[in-house]
Amino acid sequence: MAQAEKTCDVLVIGSGGAGMCATVSATEAGAATIVVTKSKLGASNTSRAQGGIQAAIGEDDTTESHFEDTFAAGHDDGRPELVRTLTEAGPEAIEWLDRVGVDFSRDEGQLRILRCGGASRPRLLQAGERTGAEMVQALRAAVRASSADVWESSSLQSLEPEGEDWLAAIQTKGANAPRHVLARSVVLAAGGGLRGEADALGVGSTNHPDATPEVLRSAIELGAKAEHLDSWQRHPTGSVWPEPLSGYALPETTRSYGATLHDASGDRFVDELAPRDVVAQAIIDVVDEGRGVAAPNGQQGVWLDTAAIDREHGAGFTADRLAYVHGRYGKAGVDITAERVLVYPVLHYRNGGLLIDINASTSLPGIFAAGEITGGVHGTNRLMGNSLLDTVVFGRIAGRSAAEASR
Ligand SMILES: Cc1cc2nc3c(=O)[nH]c(=O)nc-3n(C[C@H](O)[C@H](O)[C@H](O)COP(=O)(O)OP(=O)(O)OC[C@H]3O[C@@H](n4cnc5c(N)ncnc54)[C@H](O)[C@@H]3O)c2cc1C
Repeated sequence: MAQAEKTCDVLVIGSGGAGMCATVSATEAGAATIVVTKSKLGASNTSRAQGGIQAAIGEDDTTESHFEDTFAAGHDDGRPELVRTLTEAGPEAIEWLDRVGVDFSRDEGQLRILRCGGASRPRLLQAGERTGAEMVQALRAAVRASSADVWESSSLQSLEPEGEDWLAAIQTKGANAPRHVLARSVVLAAGGGLRGEADALGVGSTNHPDATPEVLRSAIELGAKAEHLDSWQRHPTGSVWPEPLSGYALPETTRSYGATLHDASGDRFVDELAPRDVVAQAIIDVVDEGRGVAAPNGQQGVWLDTAAIDREHGAGFTADRLAYVHGRYGKAGVDITAERVLVYPVLHYRNGGLLIDINASTSLPGIFAAGEITGGVHGTNRLMGNSLLDTVVFGRIAGRSAAEASR
């Protein structure tokens, strides 16, 4: 058995939202913490999230309603106690993010709250147009300011039990051999890894290149219980054309603001604010029925009428509220305020994963998990904006629980 070169109370694998929240809360609880991440701190799917984060903080909203929407959208396949934990902790999670430094968007002093697909009320908060990137920036600063030891460009290669502890082999880019860390407890926050699956299948994905599933697989090989692993979510509006934007997902807020979907004849065919799986399947069906539109490269899609947004809200609205999308398409030669864009669903999110309880414990003693690597929180279909919330709520719980377990 390899000798440990380093020991710690809590070893966190991954530095997306879940890993960084876990790191901050583990250090706050006094645990000697190492966070290991594949490339730069914060490089992750979390940094790509655009649309926003859900929490029941609107005047006429309740956490019960958030629970009901989340559970129903997940086809009643979620674990009620996990869905309850997620939704009840929403308002406090937003207050915490605000304290950490996430600058949520406001209109005339009031928090901007949008309605997104599958939600019965406005519940989506935004920090500009790239909420994930804003969260990562604030969390990265919090991790850097904490006592955590940050190992960048470093990947978990293997994990094995050693007595009541866990021995991890960590390979740093450029090093000849892995370093071994003996940890009292471990938080797995390595994401769902759907980019790995998408690349293997040769299909488009919104995921970051680091989103590969080896950590999830290792945990399962060690005997961790998991569920709904093959339940994958497609983002309904992946860009089909122009080619440089292929796979880029137009945020759902385009539809929240009034963009509509049309087949080749110009007919609308779905409620644009239905849950993601419903909208994505409707687009696939339209194309399968021969009612799609071919891009110049032959790829099929349907029209997303983004110009409808300014028609509804007035000229300049898109350039202001969707400046990032507007700018990206503009650089590729498409003015989304004047033209429709071609879209088709792309692989986006793994709904299932490692089974956890409300303390973020997996079925393996001393191993905790949070974020997209876990299952049970979103059933078999996640609502938009609930994943960022999941990373904060269960990330913080996982860090605290791991710190407690290490004593
Ligand atoms: C384009 C896009 C837009 C999205 N928009 C939204 C949105 O608006 N709202 C919302 O709620 N959700 C959104 N999501 C989903 C959400 O961003 C993610 O599901 C969530 O952020 C996952 O967070 P995480 O911390 O669990 O994992 P990730 O953010 O994927 O982080 C995983 C971390 O683990 C590291 N890692 C992986 N393997 C290893 C290894 N072997 N060793 C060490 N480190 C490893 C990675 O480098 C990374 O740092 C979006 C996702 C994408 C891709």
